[in-house]
Amino acid sequence: MHFKELSIIPPILRALREAGYNQPTPIQQQAIPPVLAGRDLVGCAQTGTGKTAAFAIPIFQRLSATPVAKQRKIRALILTPTRELALQIYQNFVQYGSHLPLRSGVIFGGVSQEPQVRELQRGVDVLIATPGRLWDLMGQGFIRLGGVEIFVLDEADRMLDMGFIADVRRIAKSLSTRRQNLLFSATMPDEILGMVDEMLSSPVWVRIDPEIPTVEAIRQTVYFVDKAKKIRLLEHLLKAELDDSTLVFTRTKHGADRVVRMLGRAGIKALAIHGNKSQNARQNALEQFKNGHIKVLVATDIAARGIDINELGYVINYDLPNIPETYVHRIGRTGRAGREGMAIAFCDIEERPYLRDIEKLMGKQLEELPNTLYPPTATEPVPPPMPRPSAKLKRGEQAAASNSPSKTARQRRRRPRRRPEGRPPNRQD
Ligand code: AMP
Repeated sequence: MHFKELSIIPPILRALREAGYNQPTPIQQQAIPPVLAGRDLVGCAQTGTGKTAAFAIPIFQRLSATPVAKQRKIRALILTPTRELALQIYQNFVQYGSHLPLRSGVIFGGVSQEPQVRELQRGVDVLIATPGRLWDLMGQGFIRLGGVEIFVLDEADRMLDMGFIADVRRIAKSLSTRRQNLLFSATMPDEILGMVDEMLSSPVWVRIDPEIPTVEAIRQTVYFVDKAKKIRLLEHLLKAELDDSTLVFTRTKHGADRVVRMLGRAGIKALAIHGNKSQNARQNALEQFKNGHIKVLVATDIAARGIDINELGYVINYDLPNIPETYVHRIGRTGRAGREGMAIAFCDIEERPYLRDIEKLMGKQLEELPNTLYPPTATEPVPPPMPRPSAKLKRGEQAAASNSPSKTARQRRRRPRRRPEGRPPNRQD
């Protein structure tokens, strides 16, 4: 299929050609026609599927049907949870709209509002915003949303996770009720389904699962290695084996900082992105990684989700996630758009159950790579420290501690191998 078959207007087709897009992705094929027809839409899809163009193209086309007024007003509003996503979406809008007279703008928190206010005062037709800064500027009287014809709620589930849903509801209330609504979410928890019922009218549903096609192109490998030797193995791989940009995942923010520090000592320049870093630090790290100044980025899951990095050769799971789906999301960062990618998992003895869960989900075993430099020595999980009997410990507890079964068995009970429904979110930050 070609974009032409979706009745896209020539200036947009030209921009898509210049962007190097030959064919619409599945979500574009499914979403563009109903959005062009003015329907509300729910897209179950995540970043990496081409979903930004799936809403940007028909938005531009619908807005282009009316000539631009002298006094521009915001006619399309896109709400997205993070600064990184806001910037990415903005860049896409600028690209797809490069041959149109429409203007796009972006606002997000964590930076001075002055340049953003100036941009708004010049007038924009499309505004991409994070909820906090938008609400703030609305309160200061810099933004009027009465003219919004199309409202997009992007990454709705992540908005929920990040506690932005109250802001989103307040913002949505200030929009005209005669508007078109598009909602995108990778998952559909009950709260989001509730919002769909509340805000959208007879929406078309489009569901795209990018995971299977994406990860099929990826060579998935594993090194068995002791926890204490992971850093040495990583240093070795980065120095001697991996010749392309590498994204390293750790479970915690602290772990990410530690890896960056240790790599620095070994002369390998790396930067971390995680929730404790300022917006500026995260953006800076991302830019340096994207433009090739640093080859190694160390990230936690939440910070990395949604980041669009095209030139990514390797993903390293420095810590294996305890939720197998998280593994799929992580490795989906490489091997994009038909490019070959390689995922490398570091698995210590305590992570073996996680590896089994991952292999079960993938329906295959990961390819074991020989670890001749740092072969694993541990054959039994390291037991957790025994609670020290103290005066404060009640007698029953003391007895229970001393009568406890073998350490390994106790530990196994502490770490459920697979969490059924209602499992807690991935231990991460
Ligand atoms: P998104 O899911 O919107 O973040 O898009 C993921 C990546 O796919 C971005 O780098 C886009 O530039 C790229 N992309 C979007 N649509 C297409 C397409 N039809 N053909 C090729 N690449 C695309």
